[in-house]
Amino acid sequence: MQTLLITNTDKQNIEIAAKLIKEGKLVVMPTETVYGLGANALDREAVTNVYKAKGRPMDNPLIVHLAKADDAEKYAHTSELYYKLAERFMPGPLTVILPKKDVIPYEVTCGLETVAIRVPSNGIAHTLIELSGCPIAAPSANLSGRPSPTSFEHVIEDMNGRVDAIIDGGRCDVGVESTVIILKDNSAEILRPGLITYEELKDVIPDITVNEAVKNQCTSSKPASPGMKYRHYAPSSPVYLVDGDDERIIAFFKEKQRNENCGILCFDEDAKYLNKTNLLTFGGHFDEEKQAHELFDMLRKFDSMTVDAIYARLPSDKGVGLAVYNRLIRAAGFSIIKV
Ligand code: AMP
Ligand code: MG
Repeated sequence: MQTLLITNTDKQNIEIAAKLIKEGKLVVMPTETVYGLGANALDREAVTNVYKAKGRPMDNPLIVHLAKADDAEKYAHTSELYYKLAERFMPGPLTVILPKKDVIPYEVTCGLETVAIRVPSNGIAHTLIELSGCPIAAPSANLSGRPSPTSFEHVIEDMNGRVDAIIDGGRCDVGVESTVIILKDNSAEILRPGLITYEELKDVIPDITVNEAVKNQCTSSKPASPGMKYRHYAPSSPVYLVDGDDERIIAFFKEKQRNENCGILCFDEDAKYLNKTNLLTFGGHFDEEKQAHELFDMLRKFDSMTVDAIYARLPSDKGVGLAVYNRLIRAAGFSIIKV
């Protein structure tokens, strides 16, 4: 398939992409989190093609992207709590799972009676949704299992020739996918952490919990969020997370660099103690937002190095750190080395 690359994002060009969406075609759009592989959410065939283009399992549902929060009325059963969240966090990197209405086909939700709703703040995504006049179902625009794309170049690597168009929006601001929460009466549960943190959400919903699978391997055959059970975000070499105090971790990395052909993913402060070969940093020790911004780019960079293993620092599990922790622990297949 010939993929139209849209690098000039003037309104006329977004109009072309919107027309493709209306015709049931696939368009990759930038969002503030990661790039999304979009299709008209009301078109069953287009939605099915999204799974095919990604190689995504047919039991991992898609997020429906809307131009404004109250458009959710058309597609889902909303609540007072939804609007409280919308007022504070939409548009932005928050996905809310609500009971679906009949217009949303089961191809989007993988047979579930709920639908995931998000209102992106990225201007290009917003214009595309508005001009196409339909809700856009979009998962991250990576091949299934690979790190999510946070730049146009990442999307080209995975999707050129597999979709109808790709819009260049430069680097994504956030770098990790949206926070996903499911609402129940007056409580909520975080299914996937993101830039919008547990602490911020607790301000609006005092009764909020974090699903067990956010930090641990999901053992249930029927997880709250199907995406939880898949190995994810993985570069081609195995990743091992390393936990312990700073000095011991540095000593461990040094020993690995002497004895193995390995890659190291560390904090900025660690780099001065280590050999620069196959070494990548992903932000300061306490700069979780930078770590989130850099993570997927760094995981992809290891694929252009020929290393047998990647040793990475375990991030904090507080604030935005929890989002980084959640992605890295999946990239590592849940293996943590304690030193
Ligand atoms: P991605 O599209 O790659 O950002 O992943 C979307 C995430 O949202 C996956 O982890 C899905 O399993 C999750 N998700 C989408 N729809 C639902 C739903 N109705 N219920 C629970 N999780 C959902
Ligand atoms: Mg994804």
